[in-house]
Amino acid sequence: MVVRSVPANPCPPITAALVSTLGVRVQEAIVSGVLSIVIVGEVEMRSRVVVTGGLVGMPAGRWSRKSRLVAVVIGVGLLAGFAAFGGTAPRALGATAKPLTVVSLTFDDTFSDQLNALASMSKYKVVGTFYMNSGRVGAGGFLTVADLKNIAAAGNEIGGHTVSHPDLPTLTVDEQKRQICNDRVNLTNWGFKVTSFAYPFASSNAQTEQLVAGCGYNSARMLGDIKSRFGCPDCDYASPTPPDDPYATQALDEADNTWTLKDLQDSVTNAETAGGWVQLTFHHVCPNNCDSLSVSTTIFDQFTSWLAARATTGNTHTETVGQVIGGTVKPLVNGPAVPAAGPGQNGVVNPGLETTAASGVPSCWTLGGYGNNTAAFAATTPTHSGVKAEKLTMTNYVDGDGKLLPTLDLGACAPTVTAGHTYSLRTWYNSTAVTQFAVYLRSSLGTWRYWTSSPWFPATTAYTQALWTTPAIPADMTGISFGLNLFRNGTLTTDDYALYDTVGAPAIAGPATAAATPRTAPPVTGRVEIAPPGDATPPK
Ligand SMILES: [Zn+2]
Repeated sequence: MVVRSVPANPCPPITAALVSTLGVRVQEAIVSGVLSIVIVGEVEMRSRVVVTGGLVGMPAGRWSRKSRLVAVVIGVGLLAGFAAFGGTAPRALGATAKPLTVVSLTFDDTFSDQLNALASMSKYKVVGTFYMNSGRVGAGGFLTVADLKNIAAAGNEIGGHTVSHPDLPTLTVDEQKRQICNDRVNLTNWGFKVTSFAYPFASSNAQTEQLVAGCGYNSARMLGDIKSRFGCPDCDYASPTPPDDPYATQALDEADNTWTLKDLQDSVTNAETAGGWVQLTFHHVCPNNCDSLSVSTTIFDQFTSWLAARATTGNTHTETVGQVIGGTVKPLVNGPAVPAAGPGQNGVVNPGLETTAASGVPSCWTLGGYGNNTAAFAATTPTHSGVKAEKLTMTNYVDGDGKLLPTLDLGACAPTVTAGHTYSLRTWYNSTAVTQFAVYLRSSLGTWRYWTSSPWFPATTAYTQALWTTPAIPADMTGISFGLNLFRNGTLTTDDYALYDTVGAPAIAGPATAAATPRTAPPVTGRVEIAPPGDATPPK
């Protein structure tokens, strides 16, 4: 049985504070008198964390090969010429020639507090690479397109980190392509030259590396494969330049709130003995320990100030990943689009919940929910058809809801829809309490947002078909996810889900409980994210 657990006492209230503590984010909207929120947990982690029924993966360890960069002594005249050339990070030499050390500061996950880092970096003329999840750009707590342009204008690089931060090797090849390629397309459409990629959760395999290359990236970053006091004791203190494998570049463990200024400085001075490339990775940069994966604004400022001075004392300078890797900006590649189901075809994948993933969750479905409650999901009988139905048991209910949803992805699981069309939502259910359809939409960018909910359906002991027709799908929306929810203590069993374009939809068979179609629907506001699919398995 898979149980989705939520914090017993999320205090302070369910807002960004909860996000800070657990790496989860929350979004809310008031619908039909019901507060509707979905939670997500997404950060690169070195250990597995249970989030809404899924497992967040840990990076596959990689070992650096013994290889060192040997310093090249550059004449003073050549150096002067280089500086005159206008480079943003001129390579300087100390009084004695020391091996060249290049530091790349990298930033993951699109967090808006990375602007604190930008301020210090701009002040000390230090550059880095910011890996973006384009599906998050502009959402609450995340960087905006204007922020990205300011970051790039300061000499920094905008890299890709997938549309919505999934554990890539757990996805189909086509879904991986959509996550990797479409993210690069989105970022490029905003005006950036995008050549560098970082794997979410530092999770990849040989096939994923090939897909990253196929999307036009020149490099991809791993984590935890450079020696530090935090890990990889048998690794080197730096990686060679160029790296042995540009699609598995090495970096230290991600910096978190246990890192001191000395730890950051040690990562550089340890490498300076033999030289090479040092990639440091940051998530949050904030004044007051806003997250376990945060570095304080003060420490970051002190470090960048110190780092800038290493150009003269340690022959150490900073470059973006793109500057280290080099290469051209490759042509854009789009991920494969998923067509909408044809007339009379059910758009739901695994509609009868008959296929179950190793995690116990029906394949292509996600255990959704939010708030203060305990929502437990399990396969059950009797079914409406086939051998499996899914039973949701809600206890300890204070607020929020629980529900089963087609996985909110880029098309492998979530049905594709066409703007302007209306859709017939159908699910067989029995329950001890009222229920309703909660409906989510995906934008062309790949961002999921809560859309609307149906009127309530009554409790019923016999399997009954809940039936509701959506309003017209708004412009720019390309995907849908929907499920019956429970927002009281009790049970709700569902089976045989269907989504039909109303043009060509089959007639209703058997008893049905139809809800009226609202004349108008709420605007598509708010944002929803979910954990990696509940059937995701940790990377090997
Ligand atoms: Zn990430």
